[in-house]
Amino acid sequence: MDWNKLADVLVPDENVKPLDYYEALYPERDLPKGAQVTRLAPSPTGFIHLGNLFVAIANERIAHQSGGLMYLRIEDTDLKRKVDGAVDAVKNALRYFDIRFDEGAEIEGAENAYGPYYQRERAEIYHAYAKELIRQGLAYPCFCTEDELSALREKQTAEKKITGYYGEYAACRNLSEEEIYANLAAGKPYVIRLRSQGNTENKLTFRDEIKGDITVTENDQDVVILKSDGIPTYHFAHAIDDHFMRTTLVIRGEEWLASLPIHIELFNVLGFRRPKYGHNCSLQKIDGDTRRKLSKRKDPELSLEFYRQEGYYSRAVKVYMLTLLNSNFEEWYMKNPETPLEEFKFSIGKMGKSGALFDLNKLSDISKNELAKLSAEEMYDFLFDWAEEFGTDVQKGYFADKEYLLKILNLCMGIGGKKRRKDFTTAKQAVESIGYFFDETFAPEYAYRFDDATVKTILSGFKVAYDYADDCSAWFDKVKATAAANGFATDMKAYKADPTAFPGNVSDVAEMLRVATTGLTNTPDLWTIMQILGKERTLARLEKAISAL
Ligand code: GLU
Repeated sequence: MDWNKLADVLVPDENVKPLDYYEALYPERDLPKGAQVTRLAPSPTGFIHLGNLFVAIANERIAHQSGGLMYLRIEDTDLKRKVDGAVDAVKNALRYFDIRFDEGAEIEGAENAYGPYYQRERAEIYHAYAKELIRQGLAYPCFCTEDELSALREKQTAEKKITGYYGEYAACRNLSEEEIYANLAAGKPYVIRLRSQGNTENKLTFRDEIKGDITVTENDQDVVILKSDGIPTYHFAHAIDDHFMRTTLVIRGEEWLASLPIHIELFNVLGFRRPKYGHNCSLQKIDGDTRRKLSKRKDPELSLEFYRQEGYYSRAVKVYMLTLLNSNFEEWYMKNPETPLEEFKFSIGKMGKSGALFDLNKLSDISKNELAKLSAEEMYDFLFDWAEEFGTDVQKGYFADKEYLLKILNLCMGIGGKKRRKDFTTAKQAVESIGYFFDETFAPEYAYRFDDATVKTILSGFKVAYDYADDCSAWFDKVKATAAANGFATDMKAYKADPTAFPGNVSDVAEMLRVATTGLTNTPDLWTIMQILGKERTLARLEKAISAL
């Protein structure tokens, strides 16, 4: 068989250059010893998820910590799954979590000497190597139709054989030259398959940077390397791109472990040195009695967009991801809560070997703690950015009077108080929780624990006595006086000794005032709230509550 001719016929691409051209175009990178080149290689499906962030953080840390770099490659070989704007979505999502790429698709200001970083724009290179494999007799055209392939799968399943295109089942593996040209003349579409040299009897020990030594079975599948439209499969593009982009370490999800034998063979037949691999464990959650992988269909928290929309503080998400990624991070962070996260010595050896348990409640706790470290100004900026993008128009309006909002934040964050409050979990929750300070969103559902007549008398009594100029203690004296005037206990000892002797006590009175002015039973300090609301608004709210009775 004239393989050279066949290669030209099967992969007609005038742009293809001799192979050493590509080696020279993408030389070894000039980096210090030990520097790692890593990458994130998402498919532009528009769905960027926590698993992407999980490996992105590990890749980013290892690259930058070692003096190397990380790049962004867009794996757009599957047109069916491509979504417009997906690359922006990837970049925005990762920027929110402060993941910095040094080069890659749409990374401005970078030299980008190893591009293009969109796989579709690299067709020429894949073609050059597909031709080379054909020339060497290591790849061949396959004319099997979808129907034939599914019939094969059914037959193999029925015979309890491993499914796939291999050995005796690889119908096109040994087509003669005449058969190939006859098929081509008949205009039959074809894909290019690897002519696997492997044997599943052979096992090898593979060193995975995360999982340690694992046993891998040799590949014997004649996998597709070029699809019928000349576009490579993930496997083929992975080997070629990670070689020519001079990746030294691939950290990717463990769902790719099953394809590792294919990749090992591809690197071998292509004559490329393999990068190191680390297969990262999946993110799991407890669902009732079971522990299962996070799922796109069932778990909104899998999508990174969820964290931006809800307004999770990005540092909190990162802290939590690091907690899950490196077993010694939590302890380090407890000792170094103020230190920049970059100073933590991330180690691939401390990454979990099996599923990491993701718990949204734990993330919320971390978020509360992280937000409690912000100044009111920082909180203002954080909430502002969220509201600009995701808030309602009324919520955006909260930011018109910065001074007013800062007072609210100071109070709700406990700034200047004895202890920082941890009322805020996310930007969305925080913005919603301060809604009662704004008349536009103050929609109280007054719920009192006393009869209307009593509440009405108490609110009216307090309203007459209320003086905005009162300090906290004078104000509280008036609450007490209102309580006493209505027979409510002001002496808590006396009340506790015989609660039945009173309709209630002073804190019940304070609660009525709280409900009247905020609509809530639980708020920060009520005197301060009234100070922030101001005299007019406080009196108006008391009046509104009275007339609602
Ligand atoms: N495009 C693949 C994915 O999105 C990349 C896997 C890899 O990192 O090699 O899952």
